[in-house]
Amino acid sequence: MSNSRSSALNVFMTRPKMIKNVDNRKISTYFGENVFTESKLRTYLSNDAYKAYKQTLSEGKKFTRDLADQIAAALKAWCMEQGTTHYTHWFQPLTGTTAEKHDSFFTLSSSGSAIEKFDGDALVQQEPDASSFPSGGLRATFEARGYTAWDPMSPAFMMEINGSKTLCIPTVFISYTGEALDHKAPLIRSLEVLDKAATGVARYFDRFVNKVSATLGWEQEYFLIDKAMYYARPDLMASGRTIIGRSPAKGQQLEDHYFGAIPDRVYNFMVDLELECHKLGIPVRTRHNEVAPSQFELAPMFEEANIAVDHNSLLMDVMDRVARRHYLICLLHEKPFAGINGSGKHNNWSMGTDTGTNLLSPGKTPRNNLQFLTFFINTIKAVHDHADLLRASIASEGNDYRLGANEAPPAIISVFIGDFLTKAMETIEQRVDKDIKEEEENELKLDIHKMIPDVMMDNTDRNRTSPFAFTGNKFEFRAVGSSANCSEPMMVLNMIVANQLTDFKNKVDKHIADGEKKDSAILIELRSCVKSCKKILFEGDNYSEAWAKEAAKRGLPNIKTTPLALDAMITKKALKMFSELNIMSEKEVEARHEINLEKYIKKVEIEAHLLHELCINQILPACLRYQTDLLSNIKAALDAGLNKTSLKTQYEILNLVSSHIEGIYHGTEKMKTEMDKAHHQKSTRDVAVYFCDKVKPLFLEIRSHADTLELYVEDKYWPLPKYREILFNR
Ligand code: ADP
Ligand code: MG
Repeated sequence: MSNSRSSALNVFMTRPKMIKNVDNRKISTYFGENVFTESKLRTYLSNDAYKAYKQTLSEGKKFTRDLADQIAAALKAWCMEQGTTHYTHWFQPLTGTTAEKHDSFFTLSSSGSAIEKFDGDALVQQEPDASSFPSGGLRATFEARGYTAWDPMSPAFMMEINGSKTLCIPTVFISYTGEALDHKAPLIRSLEVLDKAATGVARYFDRFVNKVSATLGWEQEYFLIDKAMYYARPDLMASGRTIIGRSPAKGQQLEDHYFGAIPDRVYNFMVDLELECHKLGIPVRTRHNEVAPSQFELAPMFEEANIAVDHNSLLMDVMDRVARRHYLICLLHEKPFAGINGSGKHNNWSMGTDTGTNLLSPGKTPRNNLQFLTFFINTIKAVHDHADLLRASIASEGNDYRLGANEAPPAIISVFIGDFLTKAMETIEQRVDKDIKEEEENELKLDIHKMIPDVMMDNTDRNRTSPFAFTGNKFEFRAVGSSANCSEPMMVLNMIVANQLTDFKNKVDKHIADGEKKDSAILIELRSCVKSCKKILFEGDNYSEAWAKEAAKRGLPNIKTTPLALDAMITKKALKMFSELNIMSEKEVEARHEINLEKYIKKVEIEAHLLHELCINQILPACLRYQTDLLSNIKAALDAGLNKTSLKTQYEILNLVSSHIEGIYHGTEKMKTEMDKAHHQKSTRDVAVYFCDKVKPLFLEIRSHADTLELYVEDKYWPLPKYREILFNR
């Protein structure tokens, strides 16, 4: 055989695969080596400048021109010591990847001599040519003005590629008129809003709290496959997933991969990746095999959410680069292989105060427990009230394959809290006002406090099927897709919780103004929250059909596809919240909705074109060649005097192969017609829905013919690397 598959297998068999990059120093000696940390900044700044820097930051004010110049000078000095030649404003546009445009420090002075230059202006703001980034109509293309603005909360870092170094400055990307064009700007706004709302409530319990930060610890799943196999699969290259391919005889049935020994080659990749991450200040800590063959997971220590989001985006870039170095390709698509578990990105989320308290930690004392219950119940209430918006925040073409496919949570958002807390919620709900007052007089000796024993912290029962689970001292949002930018779900979560906490505080304050004691006012409100939100709680198997039915009875939304799930972004209720909390204006949200729909359409369209192309110029020619073989076999047999009845099997195979060939051809023709029709739909949403309902189902139809042929057509003719070759090659 001689085709791209055979060449790929050849390359794979013959080239060296083991690359090692090991640093045996203690991680603490080089952690953050490539980050311009605050302690480094300190050594370059005067005392006054450093003080001014700290103050500006803590007050969330704009940096003065003079201070920005001093910080730029500090950055430049550090870069010059490190031999860094270029700098870039690093940002996260809505394309789904990170973006950078490198400028050199080098310039010519007025006298014509070569110098290195970097000042406050260059640090604070840049104007990349923004016309080709998605804006959903926010920025007329002729204007094309978008600005990147320095985010001083996220430290600058140095990207080191083959010895050449570039300073990366985390920035937000906004239009000329200040509208968000990226993932980060709305995230930062949501963090500020959450800080304000949560601080107000946290002060009921500790008046020294001045700031509340959302914390995020993501767990990133991914596949690693050989580079040669990847390049022989145009579908993987262009869409990140295999759009055809028959499940291998041995997939994940034996469940022998999860937590198994990590293959050497992958191990080398992980060591190298972790080294890079640690130098970049990404605090990765755990690594292990995942459920599917060639699937793995990586998780860090949690961090303040803005930084954690940047770190995850950076990680996704670094993973790609390091993998290639090892002749591997890192697949972040949610569902690269049909019939095999896809990848997610669990987002562990909590809120922490500047006094060092995790507000979702049950704590040891009654007071802490009431504080815990307050934040815990308000979060659940927020999820209950805005489940549709949370669902929208994780909607993507790739994630549609995963949600509800018995490997990831369904599209129904529910909350798992475990036995103890379920009882605690019931206890609160059943109390009457009289009880609360009496107990309050008894210094709050509520048995709910006793019901949350200390062991809970590390002993929460696990429910791996829940999309939103409380896991001891944080909530874990498990429905996020592996390729997603974490900021979308985090922004929505911060916003809805902020919204809820604000409402909660208004009501509690009113009770207090009416003469209620503080703790009892809080309990009265908590009880009313529990009453109105308990239908979102679910402890059972989220994968079961019974749950889908039960959820429908409870009136919980179950929206399975992206175009429809995105509707939740632009409901009156959502638009009002977005704009009232100053996260995004209606215009910004509508633009984002449009961009998400367009992204969906483009992705489906690319896959459709790919499928068409693969079928017509790879699969069908291979099958036709095999069909010729069958025909000449039959002809030779007939020539030799065998009669037709004795060739029953040959004819059967021939008919089967021929009918699937026809099936593929007709399927692709039908698909072309439907794609044309799709583009004649009225609105972007209608186009997306049409692609979803009419074009995508044809993928499956066409694929089923191709996957059957993969079984019947002689192996040597098959042009694309098979699943077994992609997934089990180490
Ligand atoms: P799992 O059993 O799901 O692997 P782990 O306990 O190992 O869970 O933690 C998973 C992630 O949760 C880690 O990234 C961890 O840093 C993060 N995490 C722990 N505490 C918090 C917190 N308070 N806020 C946000 N994330 C947290
Ligand atoms: Mg997890």
